[in-house]
Amino acid sequence: MAKGYIKIDRDRCKGCHLCIDVCPRKVIEVSKELNKTGYAPAQFIEKPEDGKGCTACTMCAVVCPDLAIEVYRAK
Ligand code: SF4
Ligand code: SF4
Repeated sequence: MAKGYIKIDRDRCKGCHLCIDVCPRKVIEVSKELNKTGYAPAQFIEKPEDGKGCTACTMCAVVCPDLAIEVYRAK
């Protein structure tokens, strides 16, 4: 069961993909749709195939230079 989830502000995201590299659970991917400034933003994988999901470790939010990620603990 996932212990957390994130929200990514896709129009704030500059598509650097640092969050994708740092996520230990690999639950962030590149969106196929560009945002309004023309970047391919990161998007959260809510239901990963391995069923594990986000741990709310906050590493993605810490690494994001654009403060585009908020981390929540699952209820
Ligand atoms: S680290 Fe932030 S700006 Fe970079 S891809 Fe992830 S959400 Fe976007
Ligand atoms: S909080 Fe941790 S596990 Fe969840 S998406 Fe961010 S880096 Fe991945």
